[in-house]
Amino acid sequence: MSDLPKSPLLDDPANFSAVEHCTLCGGAKSTEQFREGPFRVVRCDDCSLVYVTPRLRPEVLPEVYNEDYWSSKSPKERGYADYRSQAPLYLKTFKKRLALVERFRDQKGHALDVGCAAGFFLKILHDAGWKVEGVELSPAIASHARDVYGFEQVHVGPIETANYAEKSFDLITMWDVVEHVPEPIPFLETTLSLLKDDGIFILETQNVESKFAKRLGPKWHHYKHLEHLYHFSPKTIERLLDAVGMEVLHLTPKFGGKHVSIEFVRERAVRVHGAMKWALLPLAPLNKMSFYVNMKDEMIVVARKKRSS
Ligand SMILES: [Zn+2]
Repeated sequence: MSDLPKSPLLDDPANFSAVEHCTLCGGAKSTEQFREGPFRVVRCDDCSLVYVTPRLRPEVLPEVYNEDYWSSKSPKERGYADYRSQAPLYLKTFKKRLALVERFRDQKGHALDVGCAAGFFLKILHDAGWKVEGVELSPAIASHARDVYGFEQVHVGPIETANYAEKSFDLITMWDVVEHVPEPIPFLETTLSLLKDDGIFILETQNVESKFAKRLGPKWHHYKHLEHLYHFSPKTIERLLDAVGMEVLHLTPKFGGKHVSIEFVRERAVRVHGAMKWALLPLAPLNKMSFYVNMKDEMIVVARKKRSS
């Protein structure tokens, strides 16, 4: 199919394994939503979690996030066209999200951004007076956080290999990460063991139950099967958080938008309809202009540890 990634990882069936049980509830029965090449997007019959099967084996998965991911020739299938060059836009986006963080945590403290990528959110937090740490699996992008912003403390590798003290963070953030993680429950348990008892956890992920996702169906831009292994809904993300001892304080599509360039809008529109490439051509001279877009197909969830009564 034309929309499938051209990744060489696809050539070897041994790189993939089928998912036998739902990560969230253990259920074995699911219903196919649609199929694209070797990938099936299915919904668990018991808990309604949407996931991709087969998927890349965990040993091969890190290869997805090499340099090509951050300056991808086919961003509609995988990764970003040029993540670093979009720095001003990401910084604006994250500045907006800081307002949400500070609504729940107005005192500055010690923050950890998990999946910090180029360090854009670390930069915003740091400038606002927070002490920041970051974890990033991909060395290709973590070098930006170190070289450009001087965040030498960014840990490159899985969070399990970082040496943070238990219950040492006032704030942990996780933007666009949880849907990429093969085993989100142990991953969140490890991460949240680092959160203070009165700390705040904020994550963002795409909402498969949003109107926009439903309207676009298989053409929704978040269906990127090599990297987006899960598609949560308000119900399934709440269940996931409950399973790791968290209670949701706030769940909203607000602040889930992004500052984007017209160039980016063109790229997304072309994914939905090839002819848009020509229809939007008159806007080309404005390519570098930006504006804030929120399709309300992302959700930001604010959570804290459950209080034992
Ligand atoms: Zn399930």
